[in-house]
Amino acid sequence: MAYLTLKNLNKIYPNGFHAVHNFNLEIEKGEFIVFVGSSGCGKSTTLRMIAGLEEISSGEFLIDGKRANELGPRQREVAMVFQSYALYPQMTVYDNLAFSLTLQGVDEDVIEKRVEKTAKILGLTEYLDRLPRALSGGQRQRVAVGRAIIRKVGIFLMDEPLSNLDAKQRVTMRSEITQIHKEIGATTIYVTHDQTEAMTMADRIVVMKDGYIQQVGTPHDLYFDPANVFVAGFIGEPPMNFAKAVVKNGKVSYGGQEVDLTRKLGDRVKEYEGKAIILGFRPEAISLEDLDQAYHLSCEVELTEMLGDVTNVYVMIGEEQAILKVDPHDAATLGTTANFSIPYRSLYLFDGETEMAIK
Ligand code: ADP
Ligand code: MG
Repeated sequence: MAYLTLKNLNKIYPNGFHAVHNFNLEIEKGEFIVFVGSSGCGKSTTLRMIAGLEEISSGEFLIDGKRANELGPRQREVAMVFQSYALYPQMTVYDNLAFSLTLQGVDEDVIEKRVEKTAKILGLTEYLDRLPRALSGGQRQRVAVGRAIIRKVGIFLMDEPLSNLDAKQRVTMRSEITQIHKEIGATTIYVTHDQTEAMTMADRIVVMKDGYIQQVGTPHDLYFDPANVFVAGFIGEPPMNFAKAVVKNGKVSYGGQEVDLTRKLGDRVKEYEGKAIILGFRPEAISLEDLDQAYHLSCEVELTEMLGDVTNVYVMIGEEQAILKVDPHDAATLGTTANFSIPYRSLYLFDGETEMAIK
């Protein structure tokens, strides 16, 4: 049985706003789960229902198979890290780390050992005597994480813990948190709006939009097998390129040429005759070589952005702008026309009405 079970969870706030709809998820012990989605999609609300900080309007939350809806935050044995760190400003790093253990009445010498060990894991040993205001943002964030892991609880909840850090610190802390998770192995639910954090940290990702789960899967699943247009566009940077077209005789016109959809759909293409479909391909999935098993396009280059490791080449395909990720050396010699191939296996098809992936 799963360690945590979220069964048809709903949250309707007192003002009547329905923030989370029928949220279903099973989480195994030790998993690192990331909730990802744009601001306002219901990530924090769901996390707070798990933490016991927000009442569950309907549905059931089970820990180890036992109903936990009515348990308070302490009884659920969860530790939470917030974006705001929430450190005690008048206490030293040592006291901030020790505080929850002191409250629990743990022996002083046990506390000392645990603080030392936690400080070591997080590289805070030299800062134990300092007050939070004498620390950098990254160091404060480490104390906040330390305060959570020192409690040795089974469930670790983090709500956008890195969003107050600068880009470089975020990358460092990202790998540190992953490393800590490997060491302590606590079941972790991590909330972020940043798809890169989700992709690099998660065992499994839950993509949310407007209070609904869009897809649950490994980073690999979401990237290669997105369930719908939203997930396809959300995961990946720059996002997947899309174009809408009507199916005629099993084909669609794309960039002035025809794509034979039987290559993707076989006989099932008949189901879509006369209907709109959405084509998608990732900027990095193209090749400037004349590949076999590929769809070929010739497009005018509108703009290039040299980023160092890669150049983003903006082209128009019919009415739609698309981005191609190209090696800067190749981009430099492109000129005004980009001739490129999209392998059929990298071409995605979505239902034009439901926007669901056509498998
Ligand atoms: P996220 O963490 O994904 O940014 P939240 O879970 O904080 O989103 O919020 C989800 C939605 O619920 C938002 O539209 C937000 O405005 C709304 N919301 C959050 N808290 C309350 C509240 N106490 N009362 C009413 N609506 C709320
Ligand atoms: Mg939030």
